[in-house]
Amino acid sequence: MRVIAHCPKCDAGLLVIVADASESIKCGGCGHVLSLHFSDAMRSDARVDVCPVCRGSDFYIRKDFDPKVGLTVVVIGALVSAVFYWFGEDLIAYSILGGAALIDLLVYGRLGDVTVCYRCHSEFRGKYERTASHFDLHTADVLEQEYERKIGRR
Ligand SMILES: [Zn+2]
Ligand SMILES: [Zn+2]
Repeated sequence: MRVIAHCPKCDAGLLVIVADASESIKCGGCGHVLSLHFSDAMRSDARVDVCPVCRGSDFYIRKDFDPKVGLTVVVIGALVSAVFYWFGEDLIAYSILGGAALIDLLVYGRLGDVTVCYRCHSEFRGKYERTASHFDLHTADVLEQEYERKIGRR
């Protein structure tokens, strides 16, 4: 399992390979030392049960998707179709636009899920079984505030 932990001081994303991770990691951005605690389930890539950074046990699942990639496909599609549209080839223009949207959809559908910690936004990637539910705004509001008070951001 791989974890992207976020530094509570400067918010830098820190990559942690759980299999050979130690009990603490030093932030490359600000030098803050994060203590990490991995449960047995996490060590064996079975489940994400307790967050190694904030010790919370509330997670949600989202598509492991980089919005920039999808947007690029659509923008290129729109540019190419605009050229055909300019030359009066409406049908080709529309099919290219539709094709770009379709590619976008395919890319999106093929991506795996990533588990995210509600409190500290750590991300968990691996072969483990996905047990978390989808994002809930109310839960996020409550837990994020709780965590930010804990680390002294509020
Ligand atoms: Zn930092
Ligand atoms: Zn966390």
